[in-house]
Amino acid sequence: MLRTMTLATLLGATALPAFADVNVYSYRQPELIQPLVDGFTEETGIAVNVAFLNKGMVERLKAEGDRSPADVILTTDISRLVELVDAGVTQPVESDVLAEKIPANLRADDNQWFALTTRARVVYASKERVEEGALTTYEDLTDPKWEGRICTRSGTHPYNVALAAAYLVHNGPEETKEWLEGVKANLAQKPQGNDRAQVKSIWAGECDISLGNTYYMGKMLADPEQTEWANSVRIVFSTFENGGTHVNVSGVALTKAAPNHDEAVQFVEYLASDAAQAIYAEAVSEYPVDPAVEASDLVQSWGSFTPDDISLTDLAAARSDALKLIQEVDFDG
Ligand code: FE
Repeated sequence: MLRTMTLATLLGATALPAFADVNVYSYRQPELIQPLVDGFTEETGIAVNVAFLNKGMVERLKAEGDRSPADVILTTDISRLVELVDAGVTQPVESDVLAEKIPANLRADDNQWFALTTRARVVYASKERVEEGALTTYEDLTDPKWEGRICTRSGTHPYNVALAAAYLVHNGPEETKEWLEGVKANLAQKPQGNDRAQVKSIWAGECDISLGNTYYMGKMLADPEQTEWANSVRIVFSTFENGGTHVNVSGVALTKAAPNHDEAVQFVEYLASDAAQAIYAEAVSEYPVDPAVEASDLVQSWGSFTPDDISLTDLAAARSDALKLIQEVDFDG
């Protein structure tokens, strides 16, 4: 920033110079972001600085206000994208490239956020102890035959809140509460650990089915310590009885301050390009949003599915009510 401003002053430039960097705040992992950043810099000559955050992005952007150095926000989960928009720290991007590459249901109507990948939240089932076809819907999780056989991470984790929010959009509050109680009644143990820990529990014989995001299968297979866990389960693309398989997104937004606006828009457009979408597909086993770019061979080997058709905006709006229901039934208790 300092270098840029000094040079701009020296040159008497009124606009930012062409060699401005793009600054990114990211909730996504460095290993994922690096190949994307390298690809963009190679293509454009524009450097990208990434600050990785674990939490507090909204607070930080609010505190920095107009003087924020950040141009671009990268995160997972529709709830986090909507939270940023609601906090007023983003701005719309009007871009023909993005409108062409990203299907309308995977970007905000007002262009305040754009999904870059999708991931499904599915059932992982023991190959040994769960027959093919024994479970096909999220509703099936309440069947008494699964009593003491289900493992999951905390009900209040954003991934499970989003799933419950989708259930709520489909079925309303009473049925959602019943469903949460039914799933809780079938748990083998109190919710704990992450999605991969549940698959480890299946492998260890502590439970037979779990909830997890699809890309964790790829992560487990890539980790020698976890390959056995992955090989003990198969992915079941569970659906809602009156819908499809629950999906969430990772996505991007432009900050309200965006000091390097034009370069930042270029970067966002790059993330939707075929090259970047292919990096996402291969590096993190997620589904590209651009229908023209295929999922990786590994991901395709898990099978195909029909994504649930509720709008992400409706899903995000139902989140706080879903969380209340999860707390009401004391899901983690
Ligand atoms: Fe995750």
